[in-house]
Amino acid sequence: MAEHQSEQPDHVGFVEPQRILVTGGAGFLGSHLCRELIRQGHEVLCLDNFFTGHKRNIVDLMTHPKFELIRHDIVNPIFLEVDQIYNLACPASPIHYQYNPVKTIKTSVLGAINVLGLAKRVRARVLQASTSEVYGDPQVHPQTESYWGHVNPVGIRSCYDEGKRCAETLFFDYHRQNKVEIKVARIFNTYGPNMDVNDGRVVSNFIIQALQNKPLTIFGDGNQTRSFCYVSDLVTGLIALMESPAEITGPLNLGNPMEITVNELAKRILTLTSASSPIDPQPLPVDDPIQRQPDISKAGEKLSWRPEVPLDEGLKQTIAYFETLLGNLAIA
Ligand code: NAD
Ligand code: UDP
Repeated sequence: MAEHQSEQPDHVGFVEPQRILVTGGAGFLGSHLCRELIRQGHEVLCLDNFFTGHKRNIVDLMTHPKFELIRHDIVNPIFLEVDQIYNLACPASPIHYQYNPVKTIKTSVLGAINVLGLAKRVRARVLQASTSEVYGDPQVHPQTESYWGHVNPVGIRSCYDEGKRCAETLFFDYHRQNKVEIKVARIFNTYGPNMDVNDGRVVSNFIIQALQNKPLTIFGDGNQTRSFCYVSDLVTGLIALMESPAEITGPLNLGNPMEITVNELAKRILTLTSASSPIDPQPLPVDDPIQRQPDISKAGEKLSWRPEVPLDEGLKQTIAYFETLLGNLAIA
């Protein structure tokens, strides 16, 4: 307890303490969000079914007097008294969301209905963690919020992409029909500590492979691009959106516009880890988007937000996290 008190705010004076529900709070992004909300003096209810989340991500918060963990599956309704809801519950990596695609759609769609129903009943403000995947394999570059996307409705990524698109529709219909206060963030590739070791995303895969001097699995020719945002920047953006005036509903792109190829990412990780792993070329997965870069001018204008952590700095933090984690897992 004393440990938490010594970590205590830094109160951000102008923010009223709120009772906040974070669904998916034990996952990668959710755990950082819960920690930051607690740091700001809020009461946090962390809801998770632990499909991809872990208690180790939130273990330091478990004894905090303002933190509560609820094991619950968001496909089922839940009744709570809260002021704000961040809806993050949904597997986010292709391996995990394709493991049980029907469950993925249910989580996005029924999860959205359940958090929106709750928000309507208790008059809470609710933020949806949407995704750049709503743009599919985009034909407009960089992606602006006005672009409607290029999504395969029947492919192996569709359970995630279309589930998230339907969730956005539900958010805007509850807003228009029931006056629910909504916020929709379209999150672009985000990385950092607490990513799951097994989730197969490119940053965690390459770092783990490099730390073990194993071959780096580059899918396709490696010339496809992504734009990677460090998790602390993303969390700042999510909170800024939640705290913004009611008329700002989004959708707003949140991400780092620094675009690089998968090949370039591999090189940077090899340099930062001083590894000499060879490359192990693998087939490009079906419907893998070729180019992705957020246009974040709207977030800049509405929230005065922009990411600050350079890629190499964020990668160093993430490498340090996986070094410790792999060491601990080897001992366990
Ligand atoms: P994650 O897999 O680490 O976290 C998701 C969390 O939701 C996990 O803790 C998981 O156990 C929980 N969960 C899954 N299904 C659930 C259910 N039915 N009921 C309750 N809890 C459930 O993924 P993440 O990267 O932290 O992503 C969080 C959110 O942000 C997701 O909604 C994802 O779609 C969105 N997002 C993330 C990224 C990214 O790059 N990380 C990009 C775009 C969008
Ligand atoms: N990728 C790769 N090797 C890996 C994992 C992913 O080359 O071991 C590629 C993948 O094909 C995609 C990019 O890296 O082009 C980002 O993949 P990730 O799964 O991290 O995110 P998403 O495809 O959802 O943006």
